[in-house]
Amino acid sequence: MRYISTRGDTPPLSFSDAVLTGLAPDGGLLLPESIPDFSSRQAELAGMRYSSLAVEIFSAYIDDIPKQDLTELVRAAYETFDAPDVAPISALGERYVLELFHGPTLAFKDVALQLLGKLFGYVLERRGGQLNILAATSGDTGSAAIAGVRGLNNVNIHVLFPDGRVSPLQELQMTTVPDENVHCYAVRGSFDDCQRLIKSAFEDLELKDRLHLGAVNSVNWARVLAQTVYYAYASLRLGALGPVSFTVPTGNFGNIFAAYLARRMGFPVDRLIVASNANNILPVYFTSGAYRRGDVHHTVAPAMDIQVASNFERYLYYRLGCDPRALKQAMKQFADSGTVDVPGEAAEPEMMAAIAVDDDEIRRTIDRIWRHYGYLLDPHTAIAVAASERFDCAGPMVCVATAHPAKFPETVDAAVGQPLARHPSLDALKGKPVRRGVLDANLTDVVGAMEAAP
Ligand SMILES: *Cc1c(COP(=O)(O)O)cnc(C)c1O
Repeated sequence: MRYISTRGDTPPLSFSDAVLTGLAPDGGLLLPESIPDFSSRQAELAGMRYSSLAVEIFSAYIDDIPKQDLTELVRAAYETFDAPDVAPISALGERYVLELFHGPTLAFKDVALQLLGKLFGYVLERRGGQLNILAATSGDTGSAAIAGVRGLNNVNIHVLFPDGRVSPLQELQMTTVPDENVHCYAVRGSFDDCQRLIKSAFEDLELKDRLHLGAVNSVNWARVLAQTVYYAYASLRLGALGPVSFTVPTGNFGNIFAAYLARRMGFPVDRLIVASNANNILPVYFTSGAYRRGDVHHTVAPAMDIQVASNFERYLYYRLGCDPRALKQAMKQFADSGTVDVPGEAAEPEMMAAIAVDDDEIRRTIDRIWRHYGYLLDPHTAIAVAASERFDCAGPMVCVATAHPAKFPETVDAAVGQPLARHPSLDALKGKPVRRGVLDANLTDVVGAMEAAP
């Protein structure tokens, strides 16, 4: 299987090259040349354990890593999870919750980043060479990326976060990691400043080459691929009850895009509900066909405080008939004017639909679900549960749980009126030694710190 760019100006890449490249050199996102069809293999795959199913799916997309090695990479990636089946399903009244927070940093990003870290280590060991990962985070990505690559001897990771604007727990999850290849920097500036720094570093091709810069953000194809597995797994587990619908708390559209792919791969997936917070660019799009940029609102579900979803380009590519010229034109129109219209989108709500949920409803949902079921939701998962209640589906409805409630104790405890949102792994961070640098928000200082790192 080879990988092509949504913008059509990059020669096809192998899987390993796609993983190391991240964003395509023409600025597009990478996609497989074709989508493998699993519809005739459902009976065979339905009884499989999570890790075996993952190997079967990956084998259809990866032809430059032997299956035996893939099996070992998958085993190593998921042995860090505290649930043997990686993504357990809980019943919540008539609905189901797919728990994706059993990895080392308690957010769904671990499912993909644990695998990506193992892939980086494997590919670099074979080819030789080093990678300097540079990432910006406002919360969950930084710690999950660090947990994925800590201890690798051919990878260094440098994470920038806005000084004083990441929750104290999330900062501790990054700065208490003792491995020598991990470097965290509090930047005197905002999250946008951090992202701008990363962007200008990657745009400087001489610098990118000299420092062997690598990226772990959700445009990396391996992240999307890893995420298709839990949709396949849940749909096969519950599929006897009818085709399975999913409601997904959405920010950069990476998670729900994986669900869309699982549907196209022939797994028994029915409707997909995009659940947003007050940043409602996607709900507006799916009800009107107009993709229109607005201002970012800060909410109690901060991992979704995003206006322009980077993975949306992948969906749009399929929506526009896999035509890179039409896609480029749409992206250019969006970049120039902040708006693009996609004819026909609103006409197909039976497949994808979207809804926005505000902070008040998030808090009320956490409280109500706790009182009815004794089940504690994090604010992002509460958005999915609230959104799912507005839709009727013939088969099972699965709400995707993207974080453990203990990652957001202020909001969750206030919603239920009790100090309930705790997790032993987070409690254990308090009092541990911390390592972090402090940088001004300019590229010279960032590059200097990266070059000075061991
Ligand atoms: C990253 C994240 C999301 C958003 O996922 P996308 O793939 O960006 O749509 C939702 N919830 C939590 C807790 C996250 O960390």
